[in-house]
Amino acid sequence: MLSCRQQISRLLFRNASTLARVQAAGYVEVQEEQGDLLRYPQVWLRDNCQCAECFHTATRARKSHWERGPLNIQVSQVAYNQEKEQLEVLWQDKHKSAFDISWLRERDFGEAARKRYLEEVYKPSAQLWGKSEFEAVRREFQYQDVIHQDAVLRDWLEALAVQGFAILKGAPNDINVAKHLAKRIGYIKRTTYGDVFEVKSKPNAGNYAYLMTPLPLHTDMPYYEYKAGINILHTLVQSESSGGANTLTDGFNVASQLQKLHPEHFEVLRSVPVNWFDIGHDGDDAKPFHSLWRAPVICLDVDGRITRINQNTTKRDSRFSISLEQAVSWYKAYDKFLETAQSEAVEFKTQAGDVFVFNNLRMLHGRTAYEDAPGNKRHLVGAYVDWDIIYSKLRTLKFPNAKD
Ligand SMILES: [Zn+2]
Repeated sequence: MLSCRQQISRLLFRNASTLARVQAAGYVEVQEEQGDLLRYPQVWLRDNCQCAECFHTATRARKSHWERGPLNIQVSQVAYNQEKEQLEVLWQDKHKSAFDISWLRERDFGEAARKRYLEEVYKPSAQLWGKSEFEAVRREFQYQDVIHQDAVLRDWLEALAVQGFAILKGAPNDINVAKHLAKRIGYIKRTTYGDVFEVKSKPNAGNYAYLMTPLPLHTDMPYYEYKAGINILHTLVQSESSGGANTLTDGFNVASQLQKLHPEHFEVLRSVPVNWFDIGHDGDDAKPFHSLWRAPVICLDVDGRITRINQNTTKRDSRFSISLEQAVSWYKAYDKFLETAQSEAVEFKTQAGDVFVFNNLRMLHGRTAYEDAPGNKRHLVGAYVDWDIIYSKLRTLKFPNAKD
């Protein structure tokens, strides 16, 4: 019986620098001259063969499919072509593949390469902040720069992804500002409130936000499965009364603190679904709506990271479709969550011409009570955009030449 080393050397093709070899366990290794060892499952290489028969370059689409036979065909031979800088694979069914080393490097299964891709291309990491860090993380941009300069647009979108909020200064006194910003990113998110919504005190208000009372810390639309990604709030008229200030807390930071200091409460808020609801009518055409979504206060993504916070006292249903015991422990955990959120909340007051934009999946926002006066009626116009649209725009700005 051959030793492992002998097996490898039989399959090994060596050249002056980089070498490639098949491993018995079903992997192909490429040992680069400068030390990096790249390893790929054979089945993955076959699945991602870049030849014209297997891959349609113009549409960046894989053409291989089950009708053409299973993917788990064994490698017959591998070689590294120094001149073309390609890994060449001959398969047992005589199919041939060639992979550029640069293409392979970008798809390295090693931890560092995966992390780099997820942070640089997929989504920038959130920088969590508490009350004491607010001034340090606060970013401001000029409205006109965001509209006219791609580099500033990119910085603004990155701030929304990383710090979770930013303030634009110098917007004109125009009710279309929020709409223009949404279009500058891509597409506005149309909701049951219309394309845009006006926040001002209204007689016979259909929504709690349209009263002059304080608005407790909340996220918008927890009762939507596809909840709005960012909230763009343009201040046209600010209240001259002492109130009308914005309150803001980083909900991811609150959840993260809870996870460290009160893991049992975190677990409850992560797992117990709450019924969020909104019933009424609004928007240009005043169509009636009846929105419902069951979801925990803290939602995690596939990697176990905090991805969405749901909190809105005014939109939390008295119907709680869980067991008696769960309800009692949920209230204890929720109390701690709100206490932490309140203790980490900052307060600031936007001025006319400011556009306050924040991540609605992450930030809890609210406002203090105010008083309208004749000749001074607080007036904000808001619009939403989804994160799918924002991340896509951000990537096109960061990687304008991306091919696949
Ligand atoms: Zn192929």
